[in-house]
Formats: sequence, structure tokens, C-alpha cells
Amino acid sequence: MCAVHNTQLLSGQPVAQQILQSVQQEVVALPGRPPSVVFLRVGEDGASVSYVQQKSKKAAEVGIHSNVRVFPETISEASLLQEIARLNDDPSVDGILLQAPLPKPLSFTNLTNTIRPEKDVDGFCAVHCGRLWQEGDALVPCTPAGIVELLKYYRIQTAGEQVVIVNRSSIVGKPLGALLLQHSEFGNATVTFCHSHTTSLSSITQQADILVLACGKPHAFGKNFVKKGAVVIDVGITRVAANNERGYVLQGDADAEDLMGHAAALTPVPGGVGLLTVAMLMKNTLRAYHLCHNR
Ligand code: NAP
Repeated sequence: MCAVHNTQLLSGQPVAQQILQSVQQEVVALPGRPPSVVFLRVGEDGASVSYVQQKSKKAAEVGIHSNVRVFPETISEASLLQEIARLNDDPSVDGILLQAPLPKPLSFTNLTNTIRPEKDVDGFCAVHCGRLWQEGDALVPCTPAGIVELLKYYRIQTAGEQVVIVNRSSIVGKPLGALLLQHSEFGNATVTFCHSHTTSLSSITQQADILVLACGKPHAFGKNFVKKGAVVIDVGITRVAANNERGYVLQGDADAEDLMGHAAALTPVPGGVGLLTVAMLMKNTLRAYHLCHNR
């Protein structure tokens, strides 16, 4: 067991900046119109409003054209399917993103599965899921793809390491597991998934060389869950009520204070994985533009 004096904070900022700079340079050099993406938002969930605003802002910064379409909570699945079909056929649109979560009874899976794979900038449709597990050419979901970029940037090796992911969603856990299992330099890990039915959670998370937390339980994971010297990737983001201007603060799943001097490295919240999610979305939108133009 290695001694840890200082826990390294793995900021997402320099990694995201590098990705965004390269996207911006490529966008500027494109012939004709810039890449264009449409964000579909249903309802007024505060976190969704804020995520879509951040994505639009970042798109503008790198020269990508974006358009936000907002629908009432009462919209039917049939109407949303019609909207997606219209955008699938619109040659001026390269990317379509449906912001999660959706109000009940709308099915996120049904809807995302109808986005044309070339335009599916989130990479959630069944075609990209299948290609990812086949280690083929997929548009990879942005959060897992961003985590791999972060591991590469900080030269955190995954081959032969025990990775435990506390999440099994199609947005985070499953695609990240697929990436880390791949026969590649930043794959080749031994991956374990945990979820709400996992028993003796801490005995499993304590085995992890790299622990990925994405369960949306603010500050729930301290030393008791983490092996000394482990790398902790904190994906969780929860708005917790606070007496400040916004009325809330963002908190990760890791108890960062408790893990200082215990974990070898930790991603901050905010300022960690979230920045990479948005950066990878810009990269996927550029990719979608090329796919739509058969390049
Ligand atoms: P989700 O679909 O609700 O997934 C949560 C996962 O945590 C599920 O697999 C759930 O298990 C598991 N879980 C819940 N309680 C647990 C417990 N007590 N013990 C073990 N596992 C438990 O949510 P998501 O969309 O994947 O997002 C997860 C978190 O990541 C949220 O905080 C979200 O805000 C954040 N997020 C951040 C980013 C980013 O860019 N940083 C991107 C996406 C999501 P079951 O499957 O059994 O329910």
C-alpha cells in the first residue's frame, strides 16, 4: 500500500482547452458553412436549462452554430418523434441532441434511437452503442469519452488496473466500461460495475485502483470506500441548496476533504469531468458534420 502525501487534483480545464482549441482550428478551416447542432429541451428543469446554455455557449466559442428548441413538459412522444424526423432530413443540421432527463412518460431510449446515427452527437443510439462494444467506429458518449481523454492527459495507465464504476447507466457507466475494456492503450482494464443492488459496496470499491463515482449522492464516498493511493474520477454532479446568489452549490459524489492525503488523485467538482463532457460534445459535432458530408 503506497503512502500518499499530496492528492493531485485532476483539473478538467487544460484537457478541455486542448480539445476545444483543436476543434476551433479545424472549424475555421472548413469550406462552406460551419457545423450546426440542434439541442432539444423538454420542460424547464433547472439543471437541463443550465446544461443546454453551457453547450450553446461553448459551441459559439468554437465556431459551431447551435439552435435550441424548447418543448412543453406535456409534449407527446409522437410529436417529438416528428421533430426528430424533420431534423434527420434537414441538410442544414449536422447534429441533434436530446437533453436528458425527460419528463415521464417520454422514453429517452425510444427517442434517441430514432436520431440518424450520423447526427447522433451524444452517441446514445443503438447503432453507436453496438459499434462501441464491437470496438468499431462509433460516436462515443461524451462523458465517458472525456474521462478517457482525462486519463490520457494525466498519463494514468489503465492496462491491468482494477477499475470500479459505481453506475450502470447508458450515459456514463456502460459506455465507460466498454471503452476501458477495449484492446487499446487506455483500455485493457479489469472493469467492475456497481449499482443500487450491489451488496457490500465498500468492499468492492476498496479494490479499485481507479474508482469512478457517478451515483448522484453528494459527498457520500470518503476514505471508507477508497483504497489508499487510488485515483478517483468523480462524475457525480448534484445541486445542493445553499445560501448564495444562485441558491445552490454543485457537489460531487466524493467527499473530497476526507480523501485529501488518502487518494492519489481526484477530479474536482465543478471543474473536472463536466468540462470534458461539453468539450467532447463539440468534437462529436465536428465528427457528425464530416459524417453528414461523407468525409
Ligand atoms: P442515473 O441513470 O440515475 O445513474 C445513477 C447510477 O447510480 C445508477 O446505476 C444507480 O443504480 C447507481 N446508484 C444509485 N444509488 C446507488 C447506491 N446507493 N449504491 C450504488 N449505486 C447506486 O444517472 P446518470 O445520468 O448516469 O448520472 C449519474 C451522476 O452523474 C449524476 O450525478 C449526474 O448529474 C452525473 N453526470 C455528470 C456528468 C458530467 O458531465 N460530469 C454527465 C452525466 C451525468 P441503478 O442502476 O440500480 O439505479
